[in-house]
Amino acid sequence: MIRLASKDIKEAIEKDLTQEVASLKASGVEVCLAVILVGEDPASQIYVGSKEKACERLGIGSLVTRLPKETSQKELLALVKRYNEDPKVNGILCQVPLPKGLNEQEVIEAIDPDKDVDCFHPFNLGLLAAGAPRFMPCTPFGVLQILKRSNIPTQGKKVVVVGRSNIVGRPLSILLSLKGWDATVTLCHSGTQNLAAECAQADILVAAIGKPEFIKSEFVKPGAVVIDVGVNRVEDPSHPKGSKVVGDVDYDAVSTKAQAVTPVPGGVGPMTISMLMYNVINAARFQKGMPPFQL
Ligand code: NDP
Repeated sequence: MIRLASKDIKEAIEKDLTQEVASLKASGVEVCLAVILVGEDPASQIYVGSKEKACERLGIGSLVTRLPKETSQKELLALVKRYNEDPKVNGILCQVPLPKGLNEQEVIEAIDPDKDVDCFHPFNLGLLAAGAPRFMPCTPFGVLQILKRSNIPTQGKKVVVVGRSNIVGRPLSILLSLKGWDATVTLCHSGTQNLAAECAQADILVAAIGKPEFIKSEFVKPGAVVIDVGVNRVEDPSHPKGSKVVGDVDYDAVSTKAQAVTPVPGGVGPMTISMLMYNVINAARFQKGMPPFQL
């Protein structure tokens, strides 16, 4: 069984992105990401810190605005508008989830689609569904990069994606069915009947559910490739912190049957931020009328 760790893939991509940022800089184009964090959610603080560090690693400028949880919708929308109008800002993201009382969807829709580097805006989701994505949804594109760079073909393969969120499952199912990736995709969710039997048909099985170790060996066809998008913190008294992170896949059980499995941590998770950086670079290129940088 092959352990599909992403470290080398991520490093290779970031090397290319760093060179691209440097070459843009040499031609007078500075790349900059604006990040908005509202409240003190510990996981969100870690994610925003990681995004700041990634910008620094790649030579991308970052502007991070940390707002108190009492911030009003009006104040938040005013900040988005300021960043929309700032020509030095190429990409904008508002870390989700927002504190209770704030309307996440309204904030997403307030971001200029040209700067929507998370690819959450309905305009960009529409382009994706129409088969002409401008920005790539970050986690789904990270999955595609792992497949491509691990020489796992998708053409003509049967892919089952479990989970239909707008952030992971649905955009990934669309990307995989586009020309070039050419997979035959089944999208499963909590209303799917005989989920294990559906999954057991898959050449490539993707779990994006948010339920710790939900996918057991009976969900997996012998020789299948299993991609685990899940990030779930579970109690573990043997761990110094009292908890650990596991995926949506029962890694040990599935490893006995699958050809390859992405580990958690160290699989899909680390790819997301690199793909965000890719989108920030392409936002800058797009705003200068340049064609996208291809990975
Ligand atoms: P959501 O909660 O938004 O969506 C979960 C999906 O799983 C829903 O479509 C839901 O179905 C489906 N689902 C839940 N239970 C079942 C079940 N028993 N059987 C079949 N389908 C089920 O989660 P996200 O898509 O945002 O995230 C999924 C996982 O990926 C999480 O663990 C999250 O932490 C992780 N994640 C990791 C990222 C990364 O690595 N960088 C980025 C984003 C997410 P229904 O629609 O019917 O409710």
